[in-house]
Amino acid sequence: MKFDFLSSTFVRFGSGVLETTGQEACEIGRNALLVTGRSSAKKSGSLKKVEELLKRENLEIVLFDQVEQNPSVETVEAGAGVAREAGCDLVVALGGGSPLDAAKGIAVLAAQGGSLEDYIGVDKVEQALPLVAIPTTAGTGSEVTKYAIITDWKTKQKRTVASPLLCPRTAIVDPLLTVTMPKQITANTGMDALSHAIEGYLSLKSQPITDLLAIESIWTVAKYLPRAVGQPEDLEARERVMYASLLAGLVINQTRTGMIHGLGYELTLNYQVPHGLANTLLMPQVMEFNRISCPEKTIQIARALGENVESLSTREAGRRAAFAVRELAVDLGMPENAAKVGLKLEDIKGIAQSFIQTKRSFGVTPRYPDINEVETIYLKSFRGEI
Ligand code: NAP
Ligand code: ZN
Repeated sequence: MKFDFLSSTFVRFGSGVLETTGQEACEIGRNALLVTGRSSAKKSGSLKKVEELLKRENLEIVLFDQVEQNPSVETVEAGAGVAREAGCDLVVALGGGSPLDAAKGIAVLAAQGGSLEDYIGVDKVEQALPLVAIPTTAGTGSEVTKYAIITDWKTKQKRTVASPLLCPRTAIVDPLLTVTMPKQITANTGMDALSHAIEGYLSLKSQPITDLLAIESIWTVAKYLPRAVGQPEDLEARERVMYASLLAGLVINQTRTGMIHGLGYELTLNYQVPHGLANTLLMPQVMEFNRISCPEKTIQIARALGENVESLSTREAGRRAAFAVRELAVDLGMPENAAKVGLKLEDIKGIAQSFIQTKRSFGVTPRYPDINEVETIYLKSFRGEI
């Protein structure tokens, strides 16, 4: 057995742990750039709360509340300008994956200068301001990952900055922050966590620790996400889904994400489909495509999703995994096919080509697709077939 396992983030998890934000932050810096999205943290009161907690410990705060969904290069560069001007020595990020990722980009540019383009890729970062990450969605796991996913709208690409220096110093993971998520956002983000766990489990870079975390994450999402969607204030369900998301973040931090993400990005870039929903619409088809390369693991996924596969053939048992994911998504009220979110038949060739050109996920995905196979996956997703 041989593996690497990186996790340099101190994680504080549990309902109410937000209260410790000030103490945690003041051990790291004195002058914080507080990064958040444009509205939800204001509406829920979490922004005000975090400001109070930081002020109570006498931290200086500069607010940057301009992060949009799928944060752009321009937003990151603007945030870094604010941090530099104010001489910030710490970044505190409050929000979903978008503010957390933007904050990571800002932390690099504020410390090192240059433009984001200089850091796209793996291990190009040499310095970054320390980051305290406070997720308010339960899905991306960005609070423990080394990735910042930033969108370049000019070239219509999701770009990744990957470096251990982007792992937040501290993650304050408080499930109470997620109760304000409406049904759809709860479903989309929870399914994103499931996609991380499944892709991580099937990744060529999977290893014993990530396999354990992934299976725990998969069954936890399957059991508790329907409850969190059905009853927003079911705290046990919120807690479990956030835990599953955290575990899945630890998984992809080692394994990277796979083809579901690569193909899903094209739906987000072309039709503004939310990240988790885009993944959900491709997950069954990609799982079914991958099945022949990893039949045993696919059956384990089916089991973790609650399927009884004991009397089935290997093929049938494996197929249950993809169907179980689709049934879960339908139960959560998500669209059944990609046509419903804007995918057009005549666009499939172009977006399949665009995915192939990015070479995203090659190197970790268990089965390499050619262009025809990618087109078929999009076509099946368009029609709602598996
Ligand atoms: P998001 O884009 O951060 O937020 C989606 C929506 O949810 C926004 O409208 C946001 O409002 C709202 N929201 C957030 N928290 C809420 C709450 N507690 N109550 C009510 N509304 C809330 O969504 P996300 O799915 O968490 O993040 C997606 C991004 O993360 C994508 O760019 C994706 O590529 C990236 N990602 C990163 C990693 C990684 O490892 N770094 C992994 C997976 C995905 P506001 O706009 O007002 O904030
Ligand atoms: Zn994701």
